[in-house]
Amino acid sequence: MTAPPNVDPAEIAKFEALAHRWWDPDGDFKALHDINPLRVGYLENRCSLSGARVVDVGCGGGILTESLAALGADVTGIDVAQGPLAVAQLHAIEAGVEDEIRYLAASPEAFVEEEREAFAVVTCLEMLEHVPDMASTVRALADLVVPGGDVVMSTINRNPKAYALAVVGAEYVLGLLPRGTHDYAKFIRPAELAKAVRNAGLELVAIDGMRYNPFTRRCTLTRDVDVNYLLHARKPG
Ligand code: SAH
Repeated sequence: MTAPPNVDPAEIAKFEALAHRWWDPDGDFKALHDINPLRVGYLENRCSLSGARVVDVGCGGGILTESLAALGADVTGIDVAQGPLAVAQLHAIEAGVEDEIRYLAASPEAFVEEEREAFAVVTCLEMLEHVPDMASTVRALADLVVPGGDVVMSTINRNPKAYALAVVGAEYVLGLLPRGTHDYAKFIRPAELAKAVRNAGLELVAIDGMRYNPFTRRCTLTRDVDVNYLLHARKPG
């Protein structure tokens, strides 16, 4: 008997419905566009990207994936949502980078069966809060990365402040994200993610907060991990 896939169909349906809006810098995914330069800088500072095999897990429409290709990474984007993947592929063609990126429909757990310990860098940004079992995802990320390689994740903390800013503020007051984008119960405390990382055999390198100002639309790194945060882990070499 095979285990049920670690995919939530209701979550995927939300991304399918909005796929066509992915690259509108002022549309439903504008926050992803706004935070992208900061996360690309974070990855550049912490990982060696040029010429490296990188897998971007839960790549969606490819906002981060294309930036990684632009930095010279040999990048594969995987996602279980067909619509966003099709948009990512079309956008890569428009941008003339289709030969530099490979997009595949797969969950990380399934992809491990093909590409175990095959990537120098594994990225999984803004996805963990959409899966039923984030520890399973983290184990798959750990299986995809080579010994000595880097895994970088980002997600949202679970506390009243995160609920106020990331759900009520972002979805209901400011309309920054479509209503229903995030399910508060699936938010992840840094200690929970750190535990999943260690249980998967990875070493924790750093946890940094990401502060997004919806009015200036600027994003900065901060030590405050109360709302959005990034986690850098490494597989012992
Ligand atoms: N990582 C991208 C997109 C984030 S949106 C970025 O930050 O720019 C979350 C994405 O995760 C969606 O495209 C959704 O389809 C995908 N996703 C959710 N659950 C998944 C799973 N179990 N396996 C692979 N992708 C998944």
